[in-house]
Amino acid sequence: MKARSSVLSAGPVLVVGAGPVGTLLAARLLVSGFEVRLLEKRAHRRPGSRAIGVHPPGLEALASVSAAAAVQAAGVRVEGGHAFGAEGRLGTLGLGVDTPVWAVPQPDVEAALEESLERHGGEVERGSELVGLRATARSLVAIVTGSGGVVESPASLVIGCDGRDSRVRELAGISASGGRYQDHYLMADLPCGVTESRYAEVHLHRDGLAESFPLPDGWRRVVVRVTGPHRGPVIGGAVVEPGIARRVCELAQERGAGSFDPEGARMTSAFVAEGWMAERFAAGRVALAGDAAHVVSPIGGQGMNLGWLDALALAAALERVADGSSELESELASYSTSRIRAARTATRRALWNTRMGRPIGRAKAVWRDSLLRAALASTVLSRALAGAFTMRGLA
Ligand SMILES: Cc1cc2nc3c(=O)[nH]c(=O)nc-3n(C[C@H](O)[C@H](O)[C@H](O)COP(=O)(O)OP(=O)(O)OC[C@H]3O[C@@H](n4cnc5c(N)ncnc54)[C@H](O)[C@@H]3O)c2cc1C
Repeated sequence: MKARSSVLSAGPVLVVGAGPVGTLLAARLLVSGFEVRLLEKRAHRRPGSRAIGVHPPGLEALASVSAAAAVQAAGVRVEGGHAFGAEGRLGTLGLGVDTPVWAVPQPDVEAALEESLERHGGEVERGSELVGLRATARSLVAIVTGSGGVVESPASLVIGCDGRDSRVRELAGISASGGRYQDHYLMADLPCGVTESRYAEVHLHRDGLAESFPLPDGWRRVVVRVTGPHRGPVIGGAVVEPGIARRVCELAQERGAGSFDPEGARMTSAFVAEGWMAERFAAGRVALAGDAAHVVSPIGGQGMNLGWLDALALAAALERVADGSSELESELASYSTSRIRAARTATRRALWNTRMGRPIGRAKAVWRDSLLRAALASTVLSRALAGAFTMRGLA
Protein backbone atom coordinates (compact mmCIF):
# COMPACT_ATOMS: atom_id res chain seq x y z
CA MET A 1 0.00 0.00 0.00
CA LYS A 2 1.30 3.43 -0.88
CA ALA A 3 2.44 5.99 1.73
CA ARG A 4 -0.33 8.24 2.95
CA SER A 5 -0.56 11.84 3.99
CA SER A 6 -2.08 11.97 7.49
CA VAL A 7 -5.24 13.57 6.14
CA LEU A 8 -6.23 10.28 4.46
CA SER A 9 -5.09 7.98 7.26
CA ALA A 10 -8.03 8.53 9.62
CA GLY A 11 -10.06 5.70 8.10
CA PRO A 12 -11.06 4.20 4.78
CA VAL A 13 -12.42 6.20 1.89
CA LEU A 14 -16.15 5.48 2.08
CA VAL A 15 -17.90 5.32 -1.29
CA VAL A 16 -21.69 5.43 -0.93
CA GLY A 17 -23.70 3.80 -3.74
CA ALA A 18 -22.69 0.84 -5.91
CA GLY A 19 -24.19 2.03 -9.19
CA PRO A 20 -21.83 2.19 -12.18
CA VAL A 21 -20.04 5.29 -10.85
CA GLY A 22 -19.47 4.19 -7.25
CA THR A 23 -18.32 0.72 -8.32
CA LEU A 24 -15.84 2.08 -10.88
CA LEU A 25 -14.54 4.66 -8.39
CA ALA A 26 -14.08 2.08 -5.62
CA ALA A 27 -12.20 -0.25 -8.01
CA ARG A 28 -10.04 2.66 -9.24
CA LEU A 29 -9.13 3.67 -5.67
CA LEU A 30 -8.20 0.06 -4.88
CA VAL A 31 -5.91 0.03 -7.94
CA SER A 32 -4.17 3.09 -6.44
CA GLY A 33 -3.74 1.35 -3.09
CA PHE A 34 -6.36 3.13 -0.99
CA GLU A 35 -8.35 1.43 1.73
CA VAL A 36 -11.92 1.59 0.43
CA ARG A 37 -15.40 0.57 1.55
CA LEU A 38 -18.34 0.55 -0.87
CA LEU A 39 -21.83 0.74 0.68
CA GLU A 40 -25.01 -0.14 -1.20
CA LYS A 41 -28.45 0.06 0.35
CA ARG A 42 -30.06 -2.40 -2.09
CA ALA A 43 -29.79 -6.11 -1.37
CA HIS A 44 -29.51 -6.88 -5.11
CA ARG A 45 -28.32 -5.09 -8.23
CA ARG A 46 -31.05 -2.89 -9.79
CA PRO A 47 -32.93 -4.80 -12.51
CA GLY A 48 -33.88 -3.36 -15.90
CA SER A 49 -31.81 -1.10 -18.06
CA ARG A 50 -31.17 2.61 -18.25
CA ALA A 51 -27.85 3.40 -19.93
CA ILE A 52 -26.60 1.57 -23.00
CA GLY A 53 -24.15 4.05 -24.57
CA VAL A 54 -20.47 3.64 -23.61
CA HIS A 55 -18.44 6.46 -25.18
CA PRO A 56 -14.67 6.65 -25.86
CA PRO A 57 -13.70 8.38 -22.56
CA GLY A 58 -15.99 5.96 -20.71
CA LEU A 59 -14.15 3.06 -22.31
CA GLU A 60 -10.85 4.53 -21.08
CA ALA A 61 -12.29 4.81 -17.57
CA LEU A 62 -13.33 1.14 -17.74
CA ALA A 63 -9.86 0.20 -18.99
CA SER A 64 -8.32 1.89 -15.92
CA VAL A 65 -9.91 -0.84 -13.78
CA SER A 66 -9.41 -3.61 -16.37
CA ALA A 67 -13.17 -3.81 -17.10
CA ALA A 68 -13.21 -2.59 -20.72
CA ALA A 69 -12.81 -6.01 -22.36
CA ALA A 70 -15.65 -7.56 -20.32
CA VAL A 71 -17.95 -4.62 -21.12
CA GLN A 72 -17.12 -4.81 -24.84
CA ALA A 73 -17.71 -8.58 -24.82
CA ALA A 74 -21.22 -7.94 -23.44
CA GLY A 75 -22.04 -5.26 -26.02
CA VAL A 76 -22.06 -4.32 -29.65
CA ARG A 77 -20.00 -1.64 -31.41
CA VAL A 78 -22.18 1.12 -32.89
CA GLU A 79 -20.76 1.98 -36.31
CA GLY A 80 -22.61 5.25 -36.73
CA GLY A 81 -26.01 6.86 -36.89
CA HIS A 82 -28.45 7.50 -39.71
CA ALA A 83 -30.41 10.73 -39.23
CA PHE A 84 -33.86 11.36 -40.72
CA GLY A 85 -35.82 14.61 -40.73
CA ALA A 86 -39.46 15.42 -41.35
CA GLU A 87 -39.16 14.67 -45.08
CA GLY A 88 -36.61 11.89 -45.25
CA ARG A 89 -32.95 11.11 -44.83
CA LEU A 90 -30.56 13.84 -43.61
CA GLY A 91 -27.29 11.94 -43.64
CA THR A 92 -25.08 9.55 -41.72
CA LEU A 93 -22.64 10.22 -38.92
CA GLY A 94 -19.88 7.62 -38.95
CA LEU A 95 -18.21 6.57 -35.70
CA GLY A 96 -14.73 5.48 -36.70
CA VAL A 97 -11.98 3.69 -34.78
CA ASP A 98 -10.99 6.98 -33.14
CA THR A 99 -14.52 7.44 -31.74
CA PRO A 100 -15.69 3.94 -30.76
CA VAL A 101 -19.12 3.83 -29.12
CA TRP A 102 -20.49 0.62 -27.64
CA ALA A 103 -24.05 -0.27 -26.75
CA VAL A 104 -24.13 -2.38 -23.59
CA PRO A 105 -27.11 -2.80 -21.24
CA GLN A 106 -26.37 -1.08 -17.89
CA PRO A 107 -26.83 -4.27 -15.79
CA ASP A 108 -24.05 -5.96 -17.83
CA VAL A 109 -21.79 -2.95 -17.31
CA GLU A 110 -22.47 -3.02 -13.58
CA ALA A 111 -21.78 -6.78 -13.43
CA ALA A 112 -18.42 -6.28 -15.21
CA LEU A 113 -17.52 -3.48 -12.79
CA GLU A 114 -18.40 -5.56 -9.75
CA GLU A 115 -16.18 -8.38 -11.04
CA SER A 116 -13.37 -5.85 -11.48
CA LEU A 117 -13.90 -4.55 -7.94
CA GLU A 118 -13.65 -8.07 -6.54
CA ARG A 119 -10.54 -8.85 -8.62
CA HIS A 120 -8.92 -5.80 -7.00
CA GLY A 121 -9.79 -7.05 -3.52
CA GLY A 122 -12.99 -5.06 -2.89
CA GLU A 123 -16.62 -5.95 -2.28
CA VAL A 124 -20.02 -4.31 -2.39
CA GLU A 125 -21.43 -4.14 1.15
CA ARG A 126 -25.06 -4.76 0.17
CA GLY A 127 -27.93 -3.89 2.48
CA SER A 128 -25.83 -1.08 4.03
CA GLU A 129 -27.43 2.36 3.92
CA LEU A 130 -25.72 5.56 4.91
CA VAL A 131 -28.18 7.49 7.11
CA GLY A 132 -26.00 10.03 8.91
CA LEU A 133 -22.63 11.77 8.93
CA ARG A 134 -20.76 13.49 11.76
CA ALA A 135 -17.52 15.43 11.49
CA THR A 136 -14.78 15.05 14.13
CA ALA A 137 -11.57 17.09 14.29
CA ARG A 138 -9.63 14.75 11.93
CA SER A 139 -12.21 12.62 10.15
CA LEU A 140 -15.85 11.77 9.57
CA VAL A 141 -18.09 9.28 11.29
CA ALA A 142 -20.60 7.58 8.99
CA ILE A 143 -23.80 6.21 10.47
CA VAL A 144 -24.83 3.11 8.56
CA THR A 145 -27.85 0.84 8.94
CA GLY A 146 -27.65 -2.77 7.86
CA SER A 147 -28.26 -6.32 9.00
CA GLY A 148 -26.21 -5.65 12.16
CA GLY A 149 -28.37 -2.64 13.14
CA VAL A 150 -26.97 0.88 13.29
CA VAL A 151 -23.17 1.07 13.14
CA GLU A 152 -20.85 4.07 13.37
CA SER A 153 -17.79 3.83 11.10
CA PRO A 154 -14.84 6.22 10.78
CA ALA A 155 -13.96 7.49 7.31
CA SER A 156 -11.22 9.83 6.12
CA LEU A 157 -13.42 10.92 3.21
CA VAL A 158 -16.99 10.16 2.11
CA ILE A 159 -17.81 10.12 -1.61
CA GLY A 160 -21.47 10.27 -2.54
CA CYS A 161 -22.17 8.17 -5.64
CA ASP A 162 -25.70 7.64 -4.40
CA GLY A 163 -27.60 8.91 -7.38
CA ARG A 164 -30.13 11.62 -8.14
CA ASP A 165 -31.68 11.80 -4.64
CA SER A 166 -28.28 11.70 -2.93
CA ARG A 167 -28.40 11.37 0.85
CA VAL A 168 -24.71 12.26 1.05
CA ARG A 169 -25.38 15.54 -0.78
CA GLU A 170 -28.18 16.35 1.66
CA LEU A 171 -26.09 15.42 4.74
CA ALA A 172 -23.21 17.60 3.47
CA GLY A 173 -25.60 20.56 3.12
CA ILE A 174 -25.02 20.88 -0.62
CA SER A 175 -28.07 22.09 -2.52
CA ALA A 176 -29.00 21.05 -6.07
CA SER A 177 -31.07 22.90 -8.62
CA GLY A 178 -32.88 21.77 -11.72
CA GLY A 179 -36.02 19.88 -12.53
CA ARG A 180 -37.99 17.94 -15.09
CA TYR A 181 -38.09 18.99 -18.71
CA GLN A 182 -41.27 18.83 -20.78
CA ASP A 183 -39.98 15.68 -22.55
CA HIS A 184 -41.56 12.30 -21.79
CA TYR A 185 -40.47 9.05 -23.43
CA LEU A 186 -41.39 5.41 -23.68
CA MET A 187 -38.76 2.80 -24.44
CA ALA A 188 -38.57 -0.92 -25.14
CA ASP A 189 -35.94 -3.49 -26.05
CA LEU A 190 -37.28 -5.38 -29.07
CA PRO A 191 -36.03 -8.09 -31.43
CA CYS A 192 -34.96 -6.39 -34.65
CA GLY A 193 -36.15 -9.13 -37.02
CA VAL A 194 -34.32 -9.63 -40.28
CA THR A 195 -32.79 -6.16 -40.68
CA GLU A 196 -30.08 -6.28 -38.04
CA SER A 197 -27.83 -3.21 -38.28
CA ARG A 198 -25.01 -1.77 -36.22
CA TYR A 199 -26.17 1.75 -36.94
CA ALA A 200 -28.34 3.88 -34.68
CA GLU A 201 -31.34 5.54 -36.32
CA VAL A 202 -32.62 8.94 -35.22
CA HIS A 203 -35.94 10.08 -36.71
CA LEU A 204 -36.76 13.73 -36.07
CA HIS A 205 -40.40 13.37 -37.03
CA ARG A 206 -42.67 16.41 -36.85
CA ASP A 207 -44.61 14.72 -34.02
CA GLY A 208 -41.45 14.04 -32.03
CA LEU A 209 -38.42 11.79 -31.80
CA ALA A 210 -38.29 8.07 -32.55
CA GLU A 211 -34.86 6.46 -32.31
CA SER A 212 -33.39 3.01 -32.13
CA PHE A 213 -29.99 1.61 -31.20
CA PRO A 214 -28.37 -1.75 -31.83
CA LEU A 215 -28.04 -4.11 -28.88
CA PRO A 216 -26.18 -7.45 -28.78
CA ASP A 217 -27.71 -10.64 -30.20
CA GLY A 218 -30.16 -9.07 -32.64
CA TRP A 219 -32.02 -6.72 -30.28
CA ARG A 220 -32.71 -2.99 -30.54
CA ARG A 221 -33.45 -0.32 -27.95
CA VAL A 222 -36.36 1.77 -29.29
CA VAL A 223 -37.21 5.15 -27.72
CA VAL A 224 -40.14 7.39 -28.68
CA ARG A 225 -41.07 10.83 -27.41
CA VAL A 226 -44.65 11.13 -26.16
CA THR A 227 -46.69 14.19 -25.28
CA GLY A 228 -47.17 13.54 -21.55
CA PRO A 229 -46.44 11.17 -18.69
CA HIS A 230 -47.36 7.52 -19.14
CA ARG A 231 -50.65 6.87 -17.32
CA GLY A 232 -50.45 3.10 -16.90
CA PRO A 233 -48.06 1.09 -14.74
CA VAL A 234 -44.33 1.68 -15.17
CA ILE A 235 -42.48 -1.37 -14.12
CA GLY A 236 -39.07 0.17 -14.73
CA GLY A 237 -37.54 -2.48 -16.88
CA ALA A 238 -37.78 -5.53 -14.63
CA VAL A 239 -41.00 -6.83 -16.23
CA VAL A 240 -42.54 -5.95 -19.59
CA GLU A 241 -45.57 -3.63 -19.59
CA PRO A 242 -47.49 -4.64 -22.77
CA GLY A 243 -49.17 -1.21 -23.15
CA ILE A 244 -45.78 0.52 -23.36
CA ALA A 245 -44.43 -2.06 -25.82
CA ARG A 246 -47.46 -1.59 -28.10
CA ARG A 247 -47.26 2.22 -28.03
CA VAL A 248 -43.49 2.18 -28.73
CA CYS A 249 -44.05 -0.05 -31.78
CA GLU A 250 -46.99 2.06 -33.06
CA LEU A 251 -45.09 5.34 -32.80
CA ALA A 252 -41.87 3.86 -34.23
CA GLN A 253 -43.86 2.67 -37.26
CA GLU A 254 -45.74 5.99 -37.69
CA ARG A 255 -42.48 7.98 -37.51
CA GLY A 256 -40.63 5.77 -39.99
CA ALA A 257 -38.31 4.18 -37.42
CA GLY A 258 -39.13 0.60 -38.37
CA SER A 259 -41.49 -2.23 -37.78
CA PHE A 260 -41.17 -4.08 -34.47
CA ASP A 261 -43.23 -6.79 -32.78
CA PRO A 262 -44.48 -5.67 -29.33
CA GLU A 263 -44.97 -9.31 -28.30
CA GLY A 264 -41.19 -9.77 -28.46
CA ALA A 265 -40.36 -6.99 -25.94
CA ARG A 266 -38.07 -8.05 -23.09
CA MET A 267 -37.86 -4.64 -21.35
CA THR A 268 -40.11 -1.59 -21.26
CA SER A 269 -39.84 1.68 -19.42
CA ALA A 270 -41.23 5.22 -19.29
CA PHE A 271 -39.21 8.23 -18.21
CA VAL A 272 -39.07 12.01 -18.26
CA ALA A 273 -35.88 13.89 -19.13
CA GLU A 274 -34.46 15.81 -16.19
CA GLY A 275 -31.55 18.12 -15.49
CA TRP A 276 -30.07 18.64 -12.01
CA MET A 277 -26.78 20.06 -10.80
CA ALA A 278 -25.30 20.29 -7.31
CA GLU A 279 -24.10 23.80 -6.40
CA ARG A 280 -20.70 22.31 -5.41
CA PHE A 281 -19.25 18.84 -5.96
CA ALA A 282 -17.32 18.88 -2.65
CA ALA A 283 -17.64 20.30 0.87
CA GLY A 284 -15.20 19.59 3.72
CA ARG A 285 -14.37 15.87 3.59
CA VAL A 286 -17.28 15.01 1.33
CA ALA A 287 -17.24 14.80 -2.48
CA LEU A 288 -19.95 13.93 -4.99
CA ALA A 289 -19.68 12.04 -8.29
CA GLY A 290 -22.11 10.79 -10.94
CA ASP A 291 -25.84 11.45 -10.68
CA ALA A 292 -25.40 12.64 -7.09
CA ALA A 293 -23.56 15.63 -8.59
CA HIS A 294 -25.39 16.05 -11.92
CA VAL A 295 -28.27 14.51 -13.83
CA VAL A 296 -28.24 15.17 -17.57
CA SER A 297 -31.03 14.37 -20.03
CA PRO A 298 -30.67 10.75 -21.17
CA ILE A 299 -31.22 11.83 -24.81
CA GLY A 300 -27.65 11.59 -26.04
CA GLY A 301 -26.76 9.11 -23.33
CA GLN A 302 -23.90 10.65 -21.39
CA GLY A 303 -24.79 10.61 -17.66
CA MET A 304 -23.04 7.39 -16.67
CA ASN A 305 -19.94 8.19 -18.75
CA LEU A 306 -19.75 11.68 -17.24
CA GLY A 307 -19.86 10.11 -13.78
CA TRP A 308 -16.95 7.82 -14.66
CA LEU A 309 -14.94 10.86 -15.69
CA ASP A 310 -15.69 12.41 -12.28
CA ALA A 311 -14.42 9.17 -10.72
CA LEU A 312 -11.12 9.30 -12.65
CA ALA A 313 -10.60 12.98 -11.77
CA LEU A 314 -11.31 12.32 -8.10
CA ALA A 315 -8.99 9.30 -7.96
CA ALA A 316 -6.18 11.34 -9.53
CA ALA A 317 -6.78 14.16 -7.01
CA LEU A 318 -6.64 11.75 -4.06
CA GLU A 319 -3.44 10.18 -5.38
CA ARG A 320 -1.79 13.62 -5.30
CA VAL A 321 -2.99 14.13 -1.72
CA ALA A 322 -1.82 10.66 -0.69
CA ASP A 323 1.70 11.13 -2.03
CA GLY A 324 1.95 14.47 -0.23
CA SER A 325 2.26 16.61 -3.38
CA SER A 326 -0.99 18.46 -2.74
CA GLU A 327 -3.56 19.37 -0.07
CA LEU A 328 -7.00 17.73 0.20
CA GLU A 329 -8.85 21.03 0.42
CA SER A 330 -7.36 22.54 -2.72
CA GLU A 331 -7.68 19.26 -4.68
CA LEU A 332 -11.37 18.93 -3.82
CA ALA A 333 -11.97 22.59 -4.69
CA SER A 334 -10.40 22.21 -8.13
CA TYR A 335 -12.18 18.86 -8.63
CA SER A 336 -15.46 20.66 -7.96
CA THR A 337 -14.70 23.55 -10.33
CA SER A 338 -13.46 21.43 -13.23
CA ARG A 339 -16.22 18.80 -13.02
CA ILE A 340 -18.97 21.44 -12.76
CA ARG A 341 -17.57 22.89 -16.01
CA ALA A 342 -17.68 19.47 -17.71
CA ALA A 343 -21.19 18.77 -16.38
CA ARG A 344 -22.43 22.11 -17.72
CA THR A 345 -21.06 21.29 -21.18
CA ALA A 346 -22.66 17.82 -21.10
CA THR A 347 -25.94 19.36 -19.92
CA ARG A 348 -25.94 21.84 -22.82
CA ARG A 349 -25.23 19.08 -25.36
CA ALA A 350 -27.92 16.79 -23.89
CA LEU A 351 -30.45 19.62 -23.87
CA TRP A 352 -29.68 20.33 -27.53
CA ASN A 353 -30.33 16.65 -28.36
CA THR A 354 -33.54 16.74 -26.33
CA ARG A 355 -34.82 19.90 -28.07
CA MET A 356 -34.05 18.48 -31.52
CA GLY A 357 -36.53 15.68 -30.80
CA ARG A 358 -39.45 17.92 -29.85
CA PRO A 359 -42.54 18.23 -32.07
CA ILE A 360 -42.03 20.95 -34.64
CA GLY A 361 -44.11 22.93 -37.18
CA ARG A 362 -43.70 22.43 -40.94
CA ALA A 363 -41.76 25.66 -41.66
CA LYS A 364 -39.35 25.21 -38.75
CA ALA A 365 -38.79 21.57 -39.72
CA VAL A 366 -37.69 22.59 -43.23
CA TRP A 367 -35.23 25.09 -41.79
CA ARG A 368 -33.91 22.66 -39.11
CA ASP A 369 -33.55 19.80 -41.58
CA SER A 370 -31.65 21.86 -44.15
CA LEU A 371 -29.17 22.97 -41.46
CA LEU A 372 -28.69 19.39 -40.23
CA ARG A 373 -28.34 18.05 -43.79
CA ALA A 374 -25.64 20.65 -44.49
CA ALA A 375 -23.84 19.88 -41.22
CA LEU A 376 -23.81 16.13 -41.92
CA ALA A 377 -22.50 16.73 -45.44
CA SER A 378 -19.61 18.89 -44.19
CA THR A 379 -16.47 17.04 -43.05
CA VAL A 380 -15.60 19.69 -40.47
CA LEU A 381 -19.11 20.02 -39.00
CA SER A 382 -19.82 16.30 -38.94
CA ARG A 383 -16.52 15.77 -37.13
CA ALA A 384 -17.63 18.40 -34.57
CA LEU A 385 -21.01 16.66 -34.20
CA ALA A 386 -19.31 13.28 -33.74
CA GLY A 387 -17.07 14.90 -31.09
CA ALA A 388 -20.10 16.23 -29.20
CA PHE A 389 -21.89 12.86 -29.39
CA THR A 390 -18.81 10.98 -28.20
CA MET A 391 -18.04 13.31 -25.28
CA ARG A 392 -14.92 14.93 -26.66
CA GLY A 393 -13.43 17.44 -24.19
CA LEU A 394 -15.33 16.26 -21.11
CA ALA A 395 -12.51 14.38 -19.33
C1 LIG B 1 -33.67 5.95 -19.76
C2 LIG B 1 -32.24 6.29 -19.43
C3 LIG B 1 -31.25 6.05 -20.36
C4 LIG B 1 -29.92 6.39 -20.09
N1 LIG B 1 -28.97 6.15 -21.03
C5 LIG B 1 -27.68 6.48 -20.78
C6 LIG B 1 -26.65 6.15 -21.72
O1 LIG B 1 -26.91 5.57 -22.77
N2 LIG B 1 -25.36 6.49 -21.41
C7 LIG B 1 -25.06 7.11 -20.24
O2 LIG B 1 -23.88 7.43 -20.03
N3 LIG B 1 -25.99 7.39 -19.30
C8 LIG B 1 -27.30 7.08 -19.55
N4 LIG B 1 -28.25 7.30 -18.60
C9 LIG B 1 -27.86 7.85 -17.28
C10 LIG B 1 -27.31 6.75 -16.35
O3 LIG B 1 -28.25 5.70 -16.22
C11 LIG B 1 -27.01 7.37 -14.98
O4 LIG B 1 -26.26 8.55 -15.20
C12 LIG B 1 -26.19 6.40 -14.12
O5 LIG B 1 -26.95 5.29 -13.72
C13 LIG B 1 -25.73 7.13 -12.86
O6 LIG B 1 -24.94 6.25 -12.12
P1 LIG B 1 -24.62 6.53 -10.60
O7 LIG B 1 -23.76 5.38 -10.16
O8 LIG B 1 -24.14 7.92 -10.42
O9 LIG B 1 -26.05 6.49 -9.86
P2 LIG B 1 -27.11 5.31 -9.75
O10 LIG B 1 -27.05 4.41 -10.92
O11 LIG B 1 -28.41 5.98 -9.44
O12 LIG B 1 -26.63 4.48 -8.49
C14 LIG B 1 -26.73 5.00 -7.18
C15 LIG B 1 -26.68 3.85 -6.19
O13 LIG B 1 -26.62 4.39 -4.86
C16 LIG B 1 -27.43 3.59 -4.00
N5 LIG B 1 -27.78 4.41 -2.84
C17 LIG B 1 -28.59 5.50 -2.82
N6 LIG B 1 -28.63 6.04 -1.57
C18 LIG B 1 -27.83 5.27 -0.78
C19 LIG B 1 -27.46 5.32 0.60
N7 LIG B 1 -27.92 6.29 1.44
N8 LIG B 1 -26.63 4.37 1.09
C20 LIG B 1 -26.16 3.38 0.25
N9 LIG B 1 -26.48 3.29 -1.07
C21 LIG B 1 -27.30 4.23 -1.58
C22 LIG B 1 -28.61 3.23 -4.90
O14 LIG B 1 -29.30 2.09 -4.43
C23 LIG B 1 -27.93 2.97 -6.24
O15 LIG B 1 -27.53 1.63 -6.40
C24 LIG B 1 -29.59 6.98 -18.84
C25 LIG B 1 -30.59 7.22 -17.89
C26 LIG B 1 -31.91 6.88 -18.17
C27 LIG B 1 -32.97 7.15 -17.15
